[in-house]
Amino acid sequence: MTNQPHRSLLTDLPGPRSLELAARRSASVTAAVGSSVPVYAADARGALVEDVDGNVLIDLGAGIAVTTLGAAHPDVVAAVTEQAARFTHTCFMVTPYEGYVEVAERLADLVPGDHEKRTVLLSTGAEAVENAVKIARRATGRQGVLVLDHGYSGRTNLTMAMTAKAMPYKTGFGPFSPEVYRVPTSYPLRDPEGMTGEQAAARLVEAAERQVGADQVAALVAEPIQGEGGFVVPAPGFWAALREWTAEHGIVLVADEVQTGFARTGAMFAVEHEGVVPDLVTMAKGIAGGMPLAAVTGRADLMDAVHPGGLGGTFGGNPVACAAALASFEVFARDDMPARARAVETRVRARLEAVAARVPAVAQVRGRGAMLALELVRPGTLDPDKAAAAQVAATCLANGVITLTAGSWGNIIRLLPPLVITDDQLDEALDVLVSALDQLS
Ligand SMILES: *Cc1c(COP(=O)(O)O)cnc(C)c1O
Repeated sequence: MTNQPHRSLLTDLPGPRSLELAARRSASVTAAVGSSVPVYAADARGALVEDVDGNVLIDLGAGIAVTTLGAAHPDVVAAVTEQAARFTHTCFMVTPYEGYVEVAERLADLVPGDHEKRTVLLSTGAEAVENAVKIARRATGRQGVLVLDHGYSGRTNLTMAMTAKAMPYKTGFGPFSPEVYRVPTSYPLRDPEGMTGEQAAARLVEAAERQVGADQVAALVAEPIQGEGGFVVPAPGFWAALREWTAEHGIVLVADEVQTGFARTGAMFAVEHEGVVPDLVTMAKGIAGGMPLAAVTGRADLMDAVHPGGLGGTFGGNPVACAAALASFEVFARDDMPARARAVETRVRARLEAVAARVPAVAQVRGRGAMLALELVRPGTLDPDKAAAAQVAATCLANGVITLTAGSWGNIIRLLPPLVITDDQLDEALDVLVSALDQLS
C-alpha cells in the first residue's frame, strides 16, 4: 500500500480492474449477496482502503462497525500471526485452550455489572443473539421473546424473526421462528412530541402485557442504539424503565451490543450511557479487530442454567480470533479508545450540526461517540427520503469516501469511522460528506 495517508483517486470508481472483478463475480457469486461499495479492496490500513486500481479511499464504515482499530492493526496482526503459527483450531469442545478462557475472563471485567459472570464464545452476531435466547428460555422455562420496532438481529431463521425490516432481510424466507413479539420502541424524532423515555417504555410494556403477558416472556432483546435501524438513540429513561419492568417480572434483559460494543459509542458498551446493567450482553463485530468472534456474557446463574453440552459450535471461540480479541482489548485500554470515540464525536457533530442548520433535508443528527447518523427527509415533512441518502452515499463514494446507509426506510447516512482515523483524514472525509449534503438543497 502507498504510504501517503490521504485519499487519492487515479480512476473513476469503480475502476477498470474492479469492473473486471465485478464481471467474474456475477458469473460465480450469487447475485443474492450485495456489496454497497462496488470497489474491490487490495489492501487496507487504518482508515484507508486501497482498491485494485490503486485508488485510496477513506473508510467511514469500518466494514460495518468491525474494524474499530483499523483494517490491520499491527498488534492484532502480530497476535494473529503468532497464534496461527502455533495452531489454528482444535475445537474448544474437544481440546480446550487458554485463549478462550482468557477472553471470557476479560469479558467478565469489561461487561457492565459487578455480579458473577460467565461467557460462551461463538462466531457471528446472529449466533450470539440465538444463544442469548436459548439461555433465557432454558433459565426461565418461558418461550416468549420481545423485540423492538426497527430492530436488527441477523439473518438466521430465529434472528430473521427478530429483525423488523422485511426487505431485504425476510421477504420470501418464512415461515419464521414462533414466539417472537414486536413491540414499540423509543424513536424520539418520530414519537409524539415530548414523549419521555418512561412514556415510551410504558407504551412497550402495555403492548407486551396485552399481547403476550409478562409471565410468558423469557427475554427482551434490544439494541442500546439501533444499528441497522438507523442509529436510533432512545429517549433518556427508556432503558432504566425497561430494566425495572424486566427485573420485576423475571424477564431476561438482553442488551444486543453487537454493533454498539467495544468503545464505539464513547464507552466500552453503550448501555453504560443508560446507567443500566443488563442480564446478558451479546457481542460480535468490533470484538476482535476484524476476526470472526462473537460472545454472550452475563449472569452466571442464567448462563449456567443450561445443561452441559447445550451450547457450543465447531468454530466458536476460534483460537486465532481469541488471540485477536485479546490484542484488541489491550489496545482499547492502552490507547483509551472510548475517549478517542468521544473526540471523534465532537469533531463530526460540529460539522454535521452546521449542515443540518442549513440543509432542510437533514431532519436530525444523532448517535453517540463514533456512531453518528443523519436522517434525511423531504423538506418540511418527516417523510423519509431514501433517494437522498442513496445520492449522498454515491457522491461520497465517487469522491473516495465510504459511507453506509441504514434505517427502516433506507433514509439514513450512518458513520462508523475506525477510531484510529487521523483528524486530517476525518476532516477530509467530512469535507466530502458536507459538500454531498449541500448538494441536496
Ligand atoms: C450485525 C448485527 C447482528 C448480526 O451479526 P452478524 O455477525 O451479521 O450475524 C446482530 N445484532 C446487531 C445489533 C447487529 O448490528
